[in-house]
Amino acid sequence: MNVDLVVAGAGFFGLTVAERCASELGLRVLVLDRRGHIGGNAYSETDPETGVEVHRYGAHLFHTSNERVWEYANRFTAFTGYRHHVYSTFKGRVYPLPINLGTICAYFGRAFTPDEARALIAAQAAEVADPSNLEEKAISLIGRPLYEAFIRGYTAKQWRTDPRDLPAEIITRLPVRYTFDNRYFDDVHEGLPVDGYTAWLERMADHPRIEVRLGTDFLDLRGDTAGNVPVVYTGPLDRYFDYAEGDLGWRTLDFETEVLPTGDFQGTPVMNYADEDVPYTRIHEFRHFHPERRERHHPGKTVIMREYPRAAARGDEPYYPVNTAADRARLLAYRELARREDGVLFGGRLGTYRYLDMHMAIAAALSMVDNRLRPHFAEGARLNSGGVAE
Ligand code: FAD
Ligand code: UDP
Repeated sequence: MNVDLVVAGAGFFGLTVAERCASELGLRVLVLDRRGHIGGNAYSETDPETGVEVHRYGAHLFHTSNERVWEYANRFTAFTGYRHHVYSTFKGRVYPLPINLGTICAYFGRAFTPDEARALIAAQAAEVADPSNLEEKAISLIGRPLYEAFIRGYTAKQWRTDPRDLPAEIITRLPVRYTFDNRYFDDVHEGLPVDGYTAWLERMADHPRIEVRLGTDFLDLRGDTAGNVPVVYTGPLDRYFDYAEGDLGWRTLDFETEVLPTGDFQGTPVMNYADEDVPYTRIHEFRHFHPERRERHHPGKTVIMREYPRAAARGDEPYYPVNTAADRARLLAYRELARREDGVLFGGRLGTYRYLDMHMAIAAALSMVDNRLRPHFAEGARLNSGGVAE
């Protein structure tokens, strides 16, 4: 196939770029992925034994306040009314997350009004005035006792890095509420794709001008495309440059999936484990994501997945950028290389070394089409003007 654009990576970023370029700009797009399936980390499949949709790379919850992204996603799928709630087990007791009035009352063992809880946490948080890392930021938000119970052990397990060496931003993802509202996300829109993530992603790729080639590593083919066809690359930034500026730190996960002979293992979709001596961070029980599919699920069997984080070596799947100060210095060096790479745009979670949720990956891809690809294909603008997309 003669192509106008090559997209390396069939995750949400790559497929959004491909779909927009094919549908709106009329381009012929070749999408390559190393894996044997599309969808990147959002890929899911039905477990044949239980009839339950399993997210192969960890549970994926869709939520957004971006109207453009919501409208775009709804072109390819309808969403269920699912609202995410998470609980945490600490020293044999269960508490609601994110930290809210219910957590505070349960943890300190008495009833608090919102004002009393605010006063208690403000007094405990006062020990940190100017937070500069994750530990200090968390203490400044929730005080030391709650930090030590719910955050310190979990975060140390999840990032395999001392919380004092992690950036404060990671923890700003967790809201703290002085009400009993324990919805996990604050976004306007939330839900799960009615017929699963893979059906949604397949509809995005289903266009006569899009060809998807699986099991194909772009880096093995780049000699053939170099300089001829523009490329959007969504794989790991350091790997593209053969690690010339050193390895960027990534965290990977080992997933342990198990079918159990019970209709309900934990009564909720996600249970976090805050104790440092429990080796996994959380257990997902996928049937609870889709109560509306009850009839299709096996009544006496359930599928669970334990998540074990560890540092990624080369060859492991890089899931989360660790983003220490040393990583950020290397990232600047890679951005400089990317800026000089003619005809190649870098995007997505791996290509920009950023902690992007699905809605953020879609939003960033729509911006890349508007700000880089359309001006290039419609008006002949140079393609490498900014290097790595912000
Ligand atoms: P990816 O999905 O990683 O896709 C990149 C693709 O590029 C992959 O398929 C990879 O195989 C391919 N690739 C890499 N290198 C090459 C190469 N050289 N040649 C060809 N192909 C290549 N987001 C949410 O909104 N809600 C959640 O609840 C949520 N939970 C998550 C849980 C986990 C465990 C993880 C890891 C992520 C989670 N996310 C969640 C984030 C979500 O997965 C990302 O936002 C989304 O995957 C980003 O899409 P992407 O296209 O940038 O990257
Ligand atoms: N976190 C924590 N305890 C919890 C849940 C989260 O300390 O029970 C911290 C942890 O550092 C994590 C961050 O909050 O990396 C963001 O949590 P989230 O659930 O958003 O992470 P993700 O689902 O992306 O892994």
